[in-house]
Amino acid sequence: MADNICYFEDKFVDLGQANVNIMCHAFMYGTAIFEGIRGYYNAKHETMYLFRLTEHVKRLLENIKILRLSIKYTEKEIIDIILKMVAKNDLREDIYIRPSVYNSAKKIGPGLGVNNPSDLSIFMIPFGAYFSADNGLKVQVSSWRRVEDNAIPARGKIVGAYANTALAKGDAMASGFDDCIVLTESGHVSEGSAMNIFLVKNNKLITSSITDNILEGITRDTVIKLAKDELNVETVDRTIDRSELYLADEIFFCGTGAQIMPVLSVDNRKIGDEKVGSLTRKIQDLYIKTCHGELNKFNNWLTPIKSRSQVK
Ligand code: PMP
Repeated sequence: MADNICYFEDKFVDLGQANVNIMCHAFMYGTAIFEGIRGYYNAKHETMYLFRLTEHVKRLLENIKILRLSIKYTEKEIIDIILKMVAKNDLREDIYIRPSVYNSAKKIGPGLGVNNPSDLSIFMIPFGAYFSADNGLKVQVSSWRRVEDNAIPARGKIVGAYANTALAKGDAMASGFDDCIVLTESGHVSEGSAMNIFLVKNNKLITSSITDNILEGITRDTVIKLAKDELNVETVDRTIDRSELYLADEIFFCGTGAQIMPVLSVDNRKIGDEKVGSLTRKIQDLYIKTCHGELNKFNNWLTPIKSRSQVK
């Protein structure tokens, strides 16, 4: 991609120049952690709004502990780099930002040392819809299980764990589904391939417990707060059985990439009347307005970056 400025090995370079060595530990063994952050461009405001930037950077810095990576950048420095990168690229459309902290040792052997050499990389791309189906998804329960916390912790957002995601999502798509729901080893609902899941039953929201091998999503937290504050709907956070999926009134996925995406059928069983449910629709509308800076009440979740022509 021409003229796409990213951050690599301590400086801003063109994305075409940002290449890791094939002996890099993270490339060979998946020993990296990452974040996905969305930026929403509001043409009326001529402003890019980064959604819950601080929370994403905090999660990145927490998760490096799991892989015993080290990082020389502070939270504020990472945020500043992201803001500079977005301003330099000055795109007038929605974007996705991908920071990674990766084990940059060039050595054979998967073992993690005490002070693993780590690097920070951050790139951004224009990013629209995550799914090609825009109205809702047809999903299956995957025959692959979500990686257990004692195998590769899903809450760590560890690159190597996404081979599990790739198997589950890839097989669902090869069988004609849009995505999948993964279960824990004990057969309870964990999450979508790279999204958290909510069920609606009798006008209540239910989402899987943080101890069921999920990534503790920032969008999940956003949905819980929006539903409570704006719709007076509480969320129950608990272990969910597979058959509860088939009997739910509504189901939706949520995540930075997926945003709020209705699920219309699971294992070829219709959810509700196979149309986008009313609570799902309300949450979807609230979420999109919030991300675009159209609900002032939640503006503290947004980091605004004015388009260049606006900066005096
Ligand atoms: N679960 C997994 C496995 C994911 O990769 C993601 C996407 N980051 C999510 C859930 C949703 O998390 P968030 O809302 O923080 O993007």
